[in-house]
Amino acid sequence: MAKIFCIANQKGGVGKTTTTVNLAAGLARIGQRVLVVDLDPQGNATMGSGVDKRTLEASVYDVLLESATVADVRRRADKGGYDLLPANRELAGAEVELVGLERRNERLRGALAAVADDYDFVLIDCPPSLNLLTLNGLVSAHGVIVPMQCEYFALEGLSDLVNTIRQVHANLNRDLQIIGLLRVMFDPRITLQQQVSEQLKGHFGAKVFDTVIPRNVRLAEAPSYGQPGVVFDPAAKGAQAYLEFAREMVQRIATMR
Ligand code: ADP
Ligand code: MG
Repeated sequence: MAKIFCIANQKGGVGKTTTTVNLAAGLARIGQRVLVVDLDPQGNATMGSGVDKRTLEASVYDVLLESATVADVRRRADKGGYDLLPANRELAGAEVELVGLERRNERLRGALAAVADDYDFVLIDCPPSLNLLTLNGLVSAHGVIVPMQCEYFALEGLSDLVNTIRQVHANLNRDLQIIGLLRVMFDPRITLQQQVSEQLKGHFGAKVFDTVIPRNVRLAEAPSYGQPGVVFDPAAKGAQAYLEFAREMVQRIATMR
């Protein structure tokens, strides 16, 4: 049975998509069966996995509206070694269309249940807001991975996300928990980043992952080649860190109830 994780943070540009595709590729490299769900209408995880979002015949949009199943829509991300439920701009419409439909929070959960035995991990790349799409992700998941940059306003934004997760846990999904906070784009030479990192550990303790992802230009270059950085340049510092993170995740879920 797959463990399902949302990669979420309502801020844009904090490394959600980079974390999703690189963790997926890292897990695949150590023998895990992985499905990536692109839940962002920007389709960055789709493009970054080497699938052209402009030529999709079906997408996660069709799955949410129940006109197709996950098995119909999923594609192989060959380079990364994982499966992908792709997305494009059409998904922005689903947000509006779902509002009037029944079980609008639970569409993704139902769809993923049908393929749970096909995977060890399902990673959901959430959009940069706490909207109905993100809610579908949170309702489906066992846990949330929160990538964050160690900057001054990072902690402020975190409380909204933590509150949303609490509410979903209380009302919609008793399984949901924060798995951990992942420090990304980290530059140890910047004193403020070290300070925020220490604050995070003080506040969240063991919920802060041991692995730290450094700022590394190879990770940023990889998407334009339609590949996760872990595949594009496996020897680069950023790729090595995501491989380490994949191993840490495997260990963490071994101790999850
Ligand atoms: P989000 O999905 O949260 O919007 P992205 O993963 O798209 O964030 O990252 C935002 C930008 O930062 C992208 O251009 C990405 O390539 C770049 N980026 C992400 N992580 C790193 C990193 N560790 N080092 C350098 N650049 C990064
Ligand atoms: Mg993104």
